Amino acid sequence: MIPTDLYHLLQCPTCSSRNLVVTDAGVYCAGCKSNYPHRAGYLDLMPRATSFDYVSKYVAEEQELAEELDYRELAPPLLAAGVRNRALVRLLGLTGRDIVLDSGCGTAKFAAWNAELVRLMVGADPATMFADAAVEQVALTQADARRLPFADDSFTKAFSIDVLEHFPREVIDAYLAETARVLRPGGRFLIFSNTSDPSSLQPVVNLSRRLGRLFVRLGLYDFQREARRKSDHIKALATWEDVLAAMQQAGLRPVRVVFWNSVFTTFVEHVLMKLGEVVLGRRARSRHTATRPGPDTAPDGTARELRARQRMRGRLKRRGPAYYALLAVTLLMELDLWLFNQLRSGSYFLLVEKPRD
Ligand SMILES: [Zn+2]
Repeated sequence: MIPTDLYHLLQCPTCSSRNLVVTDAGVYCAGCKSNYPHRAGYLDLMPRATSFDYVSKYVAEEQELAEELDYRELAPPLLAAGVRNRALVRLLGLTGRDIVLDSGCGTAKFAAWNAELVRLMVGADPATMFADAAVEQVALTQADARRLPFADDSFTKAFSIDVLEHFPREVIDAYLAETARVLRPGGRFLIFSNTSDPSSLQPVVNLSRRLGRLFVRLGLYDFQREARRKSDHIKALATWEDVLAAMQQAGLRPVRVVFWNSVFTTFVEHVLMKLGEVVLGRRARSRHTATRPGPDTAPDGTARELRARQRMRGRLKRRGPAYYALLAVTLLMELDLWLFNQLRSGSYFLLVEKPRD
């Protein structure tokens, strides 16, 4: 979606001119004569004639990942994504007056889930694997976070979910500086990411992991797909002190932190949900082979997980018992935030503010 309001925020990502002309094809910069065309549901606002040293894996291998990540159809915000989303809404205090940027939005699911709460929800990402619901509800831009196509002080709020851990330090610094630039003074920015800091509750967490690994050895499921998803975590901000130092350097003042010690979360993810997926996947497969006998296409963990997720999405959309069961599990996971939020751990929600001068 490309609403008129979006154009009021734009500046040229190549030459920083605000002398832009909206054309039938997209946007034209009178300053450097660059064209920024409309694509399917978003505006291509990548800086022209610029090359960056660092390109995230999500951009470099977009096509390959697109298939695997199964991104087009959006499930409701449940489980770990539900905990993130509820914390996002609560900590950022989104209102109908807000103009909000999701920088590094990925599929833009968090932007889509909350688009109706705010005046304008803008998503920016160099990769364009946007969910269908985001294309409908979010002002989507293909953009580089180191050279955002927005004027200074454009946004009242911004958020960044699962982004920082993918970047080397110099990219993080540029990302934070750019976000600070486009935020209004007094504007707030919520970051969810993780460091390598250990949690003091790690021994408890490990019990669930060990139980999960036991299931792997028994051949009940595997974690290959999970491992791949996390494979480009760099965690350049390795400690909480690194996080605070980076914020200070970008001129962003910490307001509040909520650590996420994943005690309940790990139990749910490594034990409860995986068992559920195995059960759902089995049931789907036995139905499949009953109606269409043939050579067994021995599905690996990925195929099984995808199939379970597709079935699950159908049920969730109907808001049946499965939806409410998963909502209950989501709230169980969220207990981690209420009980242990002050105990330092690797995962954190950090709310920062751009100071008023
Ligand atoms: Zn320009």
